[in-house]
Amino acid sequence: MKLVILDRDGVINFDSKQFIKSPAEWRPIPGSVEAIARLNQAGYRVVVATNQSGVGRGLFDMDTLNAIHDKMHRAVMAAGGRIDAIYYCPHAVDAGCHCRKPATGMFERIAGCFNIDLPGTPTVGDSLRDLQAAAAVGALPLLVLTGKGTQTQLDGGLPQGTLVFADLAAATDHILLL
Ligand SMILES: [Mg+2]
Ligand SMILES: [Zn+2]
Repeated sequence: MKLVILDRDGVINFDSKQFIKSPAEWRPIPGSVEAIARLNQAGYRVVVATNQSGVGRGLFDMDTLNAIHDKMHRAVMAAGGRIDAIYYCPHAVDAGCHCRKPATGMFERIAGCFNIDLPGTPTVGDSLRDLQAAAAVGALPLLVLTGKGTQTQLDGGLPQGTLVFADLAAATDHILLL
């Protein structure tokens, strides 16, 4: 089975330094939901792995996170696509959990749930920690320059083999050639 792992904020939707705390604040980056549909049409399952420490900080609750994800699901469905699963880390930054990227807990859960091998799995993110988590499990790290991506590229230190694209639509063009 072919599978792609996407970060959420800054990859699928516009990011905010103040966190995405409501469905109204979740706004898709142009071309992103269509890109997910194109991946599906090419036989890829698409799953999301997202750090959501705003839950752990008390900025928003699980009902709100679920409502945000309902909106995302509906936007993708309206474009003819589907997100198969959303994995999120709700813990605070200092909680020391095993799921917050760059830790690999969400990736290991994805591998177990979907019975896939992580090595070579295309993984799209806009932050260094997304790429580090991908590299740690042998996945293929793809940096997009939306969200925090431009700053991430400037900061350097990207895992070896990281590929860089303007946005999820462009990253998808490449994945479809793999
Ligand atoms: Mg992000
Ligand atoms: Zn966690």
